[in-house]
Amino acid sequence: MAGTELARPKRYVVQDDIVSLMDFDAGRARAITIYADTRAHNGASRPMAEVVAALDAAESSLAGSAERVDAFRESRRRAEEVLADPAAHAGEGLAAFVCESRGLLEVFTLPTPFHTRVAVGRRLYVPPLARLLETFDSHIVAHVRSDRAEIYTAYLHRLWPAVELASDVPGRASGGGWAQARLQRHREECVKKHLKLVADEIARLVSEEEADRVLLFGPGEVLDALSRHLPDAVAQRVLAKEPMPNEAGEAEIRERARDILHRYRDDVAADAIGELQSRIGAGGRGAAGAGPVVEALNRRAAEALVLSRSLAVEGFRCAGCGWLQEHDGSSCPTCGGELRPGLLARLMAQAARGQGASVLFVEDSARMAPFGGVAAFLRF
Ligand SMILES: [Zn+2]
Repeated sequence: MAGTELARPKRYVVQDDIVSLMDFDAGRARAITIYADTRAHNGASRPMAEVVAALDAAESSLAGSAERVDAFRESRRRAEEVLADPAAHAGEGLAAFVCESRGLLEVFTLPTPFHTRVAVGRRLYVPPLARLLETFDSHIVAHVRSDRAEIYTAYLHRLWPAVELASDVPGRASGGGWAQARLQRHREECVKKHLKLVADEIARLVSEEEADRVLLFGPGEVLDALSRHLPDAVAQRVLAKEPMPNEAGEAEIRERARDILHRYRDDVAADAIGELQSRIGAGGRGAAGAGPVVEALNRRAAEALVLSRSLAVEGFRCAGCGWLQEHDGSSCPTCGGELRPGLLARLMAQAARGQGASVLFVEDSARMAPFGGVAAFLRF
């Protein structure tokens, strides 16, 4: 192992980390992103087999210049040093971002495990890490044809390539006769198998990424057939099924997905704000402003929390019982536990989810201004 000091792993994520990782561009080099569940590997002194296997697969599929392969190997060596370092296994989840030739090495050991995943590309794969900020929703976008599919995670206003599938499907048989009929049946079987695979991948991503909605693009008959393979819980999340030219690229998919998601968020926000107005205006079960919402969360009365995305004030949460407050104090007034600082919006979102309430972040902060940036529907 090289004698280089490894970067000290970070124990938490802040928005700035996410922004700089999102902006990273390896150019002609290739960057490695690793997520791992380190619970079972605490104290392990060698890289995890699953990650190594994924790195092997990535290395063997690297196309292009010898220079790029060499650059990948350099980064890979560094990544394996990280995995072998006990400090990287201090938490339950590990996230590492490595691009040796560009001087990138960022390691996070976090209190929540990740599904093990390795991604190699010009860009880093940021969504699983960014999700820990808990202020953005993620969606799955798929462009599906009868023999291939590209599946993306839509997150932080970007599309992140997640899975690419290509199946061997023979062309359409033309003419009549028994041979053609048999070929046609064979083709249909192949398409069916392919679509089942695509549906499985979509279902897996929806669960791994805790995706809110699913957007499907492709020929109508392909999407109809695909839908039959989607589990009910996933089918209920399908927001759009729209045609798309077979050869459409990522840019086209991104534009369409952005429009649809923009309208969707807008509708959801309008509904929520309409209901808030009626509840709060009529003295009904609603709370507006940080103070009343914190109070409602502390008595576990929240049914849904609505926040402006740009709400950026600090707050405090008890490490012991989860008590929230806007201002610092020596200790928690209910259990005497330690009060830890954090972004108030995030602390409120965590508290709300912890009591089974849904959380909605509203993009347009002007709409939330009448409610002081945050409001809640209350159960009682
Ligand atoms: Zn407490």
